[in-house]
Amino acid sequence: MGEKKKKIVKTIKVDLDKCNGCRACEVVCSAFHAAPKYSSNNPARSRIRVIHEPLKDVYVPVYAGEYAKAECMGRDKYVIDGKEYDEGSFCRASCPSRDLFKEPDSALPLECDMCEDDPPQKEPLCVQWCLNDALTYEEREEEVEEEVKQEDVEVGLQSMVDKYGLEKIIDTVARMSHKG
Ligand code: SF4
Ligand code: SF4
Repeated sequence: MGEKKKKIVKTIKVDLDKCNGCRACEVVCSAFHAAPKYSSNNPARSRIRVIHEPLKDVYVPVYAGEYAKAECMGRDKYVIDGKEYDEGSFCRASCPSRDLFKEPDSALPLECDMCEDDPPQKEPLCVQWCLNDALTYEEREEEVEEEVKQEDVEVGLQSMVDKYGLEKIIDTVARMSHKG
């Protein structure tokens, strides 16, 4: 068991009744995380996706969550307004079973970082850009177990190792360092 410590818990509340599927949140998220910042936008690179399949009369903004290296055994199934959605439609994980929440060029996993970047934002960008107030940002202090969070680079490397195998990654790095 880890030690308890105070932590600011950040939440984005999603009000489905207010979302009209405009996808401004996807545009600004991908632009904010582009390199350099705001140099491009591509919803496929966004860490929030507005899911509207298979029934197009409700829009569900879903935030990219943790990377999962294997397809999970369990499945979520949602019923909204009496309409049943496909299994896993609103799952937050970046996992091998689908392309959602993966950087399209590199296939590296994407995860919402609450826009904790430079310059600091008063609120996450998707919340600021949602003109319909479907997204509301909240903060509260909680006592939590201290956890060791994986660095972004570690998560990225892990996904490459899962995809290509450790040996191939080591060979490639060795080859690259010879070139350098
Ligand atoms: S910006 Fe707001 S209303 Fe538009 S798709 Fe995103 S959550 Fe929905
Ligand atoms: S909080 Fe920031 S990183 Fe997360 S989905 Fe919204 S814009 Fe993207």
